[in-house]
Amino acid sequence: MKQSIVKPNFVKNFNCIGASCEDSCCFGWNIQINKANYKKVIKHPELKDLAVVALKKVKKSEHHWAQAILDKQGGCQFLDENSLCQIHAKAGEQYLSTTCQTYPRLSRGCDGNRYESLTLSCPEAVRMVLFKDDAFIFETTTYQSKQLTKATPLWARITYDCSLQLLLKPGMPLELSLLAIGVLMNTAESAMKHQAPSENIENMYHQLDALSDSGALKQHFDGFDSDNKQHKLHAFSSIHLWLNTNSVRRGRERFEQINLAIKSLADEEKRFCFDKIDGIWQQQVLPLLAQYPTLFQRYGFYYLYQMNFPVIDKLSPSEAYRLMMADFFMLRIYLTAMVNYRGELTEADLVMCFQVYHTQRQHKQNFSRYIINLLNECGFVDVPSIVSLLAAQK
Ligand code: SF4
Repeated sequence: MKQSIVKPNFVKNFNCIGASCEDSCCFGWNIQINKANYKKVIKHPELKDLAVVALKKVKKSEHHWAQAILDKQGGCQFLDENSLCQIHAKAGEQYLSTTCQTYPRLSRGCDGNRYESLTLSCPEAVRMVLFKDDAFIFETTTYQSKQLTKATPLWARITYDCSLQLLLKPGMPLELSLLAIGVLMNTAESAMKHQAPSENIENMYHQLDALSDSGALKQHFDGFDSDNKQHKLHAFSSIHLWLNTNSVRRGRERFEQINLAIKSLADEEKRFCFDKIDGIWQQQVLPLLAQYPTLFQRYGFYYLYQMNFPVIDKLSPSEAYRLMMADFFMLRIYLTAMVNYRGELTEADLVMCFQVYHTQRQHKQNFSRYIINLLNECGFVDVPSIVSLLAAQK
């Protein structure tokens, strides 16, 4: 059966920067080796001595037959003095663990296609997605496959296309695009429950497009009550605390820098105030972000594509939307904290905020369900309330 591989340029042009990486994936991870590769490595003449001390047989499954024993600094012992992998250098890529062979590449199959992507837990992947001009040029190639892939329902495909168009509508501010996507989710939800035909999603998209052109969407946005700073504070503190709890070893030093930056937002009594956070965002962060005018649109594009929005985990369209808004919200606060702490926002700071957040996020089990429960608890249950996460206090 003929299938397609869809590959954006941010994947095609990705190259691991190895020893120059500011947060190498060869540190602090549970690196698992399958049975076949373990046997090859322990017999390899140039690797067998090192393998005795650097690998531990665990026999949990064929796939997880052994795992790397990390050194005191948390590094994989197969790294040489130049931080280059000796398995790769002496035996070849095919001897590596599956994780080492593929990371940070991701691939998802649906509708008879394979969609390739990268995880943002790799700093170089963040750079490719956020800063490369041609990151979102897509290439499609065909190949023969017997593997069946899951079908995306029609309502979800239309919702994805319409959301992307709203996000990328020229001249439309991000907040309004996100508001429009939120409104669209109500129609998507009805279509998902077979209470309305899928064409209604497209009709709603055209209405939102027109409302944006007429300025009515902006008026609607400005009319939202954003006086919910206590709830925002509760949502932010809970998510950040949870990410800090049992955080993965990899990237912990970088996470500590963000923690210090967040502490700098507190007053002398260690209290946080969203008036202050909103003020820094408006007066300091936004002017600094002017040199990256498409930063959050790019992130949103990546997010929709990577997650196959709105088909995320087992969430409903509205829940998937609220999860996305929570991610935007957290990243905005991390950037605000960095600017407050350092008085500037370098490209390295931007990469750190996105990468560290995603490293911690991807290691949390049931992340999406936790976020939805928390948002429910804080009253962020509908479009006006959830949009207010990104609205500054009036
Ligand atoms: S995190 Fe990315 S760039 Fe860094 S070593 Fe791993 S794959 Fe390479």
